[in-house]
Amino acid sequence: MEKKAFVTRELVEEITKTYPTPFHIYDERGIRENAEALREAFSWNPGYKEFFAVKATPNPFLIRILKEYGCGCDCSSYTELMLSNAVGIKGEDIMFSSNDTPAEEFLLAAELGAIINLDDITHIDFLEKTLGYLPKTLSCRFNPGGYFSMGTDIMDNPGDAKYGFTREQMFEGFRILKAKGVEHFGIHAFLASNTVTNEYYPVLARQLFELAVELQRQTGAHISFVNLSGGIGIPYTPDQEPNDIRLIGEKVREAYEEILGSAGMGDVAVYTELGRFMMGPYGHLVTKVIHQKHTHKEYLGVDACAVNLMRPAMYGAYHHITVLGREGEACDHKYDVTGSLCENNDKFAIDRMLPEVKTGDYMVIHDTGAHGFSMGYNYNGKLRSAELLLHEDGSVELIRRAETPEDYFATFDGFDIYKKLLPEKSG
Ligand SMILES: *Cc1c(COP(=O)(O)O)cnc(C)c1O
Repeated sequence: MEKKAFVTRELVEEITKTYPTPFHIYDERGIRENAEALREAFSWNPGYKEFFAVKATPNPFLIRILKEYGCGCDCSSYTELMLSNAVGIKGEDIMFSSNDTPAEEFLLAAELGAIINLDDITHIDFLEKTLGYLPKTLSCRFNPGGYFSMGTDIMDNPGDAKYGFTREQMFEGFRILKAKGVEHFGIHAFLASNTVTNEYYPVLARQLFELAVELQRQTGAHISFVNLSGGIGIPYTPDQEPNDIRLIGEKVREAYEEILGSAGMGDVAVYTELGRFMMGPYGHLVTKVIHQKHTHKEYLGVDACAVNLMRPAMYGAYHHITVLGREGEACDHKYDVTGSLCENNDKFAIDRMLPEVKTGDYMVIHDTGAHGFSMGYNYNGKLRSAELLLHEDGSVELIRRAETPEDYFATFDGFDIYKKLLPEKSG
């Protein structure tokens, strides 16, 4: 599918009068339409809830939009819990799906009334010692080991993943929890990431629904929900077909009726913890070409770098690039698009075919709405960019200001670098 930017060159030129590049910008309309489509796709399940994976895009202005569509939050750290609570998503609208969890994080999760999703059987004891009790509702994360495959395609390698209980541990864990007075049980699994296929959720759902039936039969634990977690992907490359969420919902419904319905477990709620699917396509990193370099290769130097978007440097991930104002031109020039870090992997694209680019052109780096800004860091003393929201009426709102050097130096208590380094005023 052709990838089109949701901003134009004219709009970006207008925005940069107030907010200089680089910045991340989010498309409110796209976020809303997608959230509504997800809600409709699972509306057959009365208990259905999406717990947005906060780590993907931890911005309260954006999470507040999702809240209007009934979304809760999936948190995995202290500050993510705080953020969720601050936007008014509380209690059982928070799923705390963490791992290697510090005691203080379990304490805050319990204090907020979040549903706790245990990553390991030893965490039963740890949680009980930490809280002094066990909550009435608990979930356990399942890891079947081996490879997760669909037909002949290997999708991912759970056997090599640090997460979750083994199958045997699920049964043992549920027996222990039940004996300790837990009343409502959940099952969670995240077995493949960024799946651009309509089959992942239905295949996963089938496995988890069957496990739910066995667990309930063998342990007597009442299964309240099955959490399909994240993993529905987005088409980063133009040749990929986007997932059809309506079809995915429908196929999960078929598995639900076949397996849970016929086992008399038609009261089980289906939960999701999508991150990438909710926000990925609705964010752009906007950057300006500030240098062109002609050496052994042709380089375009832009004013963003890997601290603004780590995925290409970290995973070699493809992110599509549109040169704004040149959408109609032939892509007959080959470039490496680089940032300014002292790291040779700081490249947004390698050997990318683009139109002939002029210094001063603006570029959109696509699909940065999830795991984009949030994976940012401060290497080379680079500062985090602003985040902007493009409203449906075309207006633009600053939803997080850019960092300043003062922010960067703020944690050196008692050593006021920022003030010392300010140029002395003469006269
Ligand atoms: C990262 C994560 C998600 C979201 O994953 P996406 O690929 O963004 O959908 C959901 N649940 C858990 C526990 C995660 O770690």
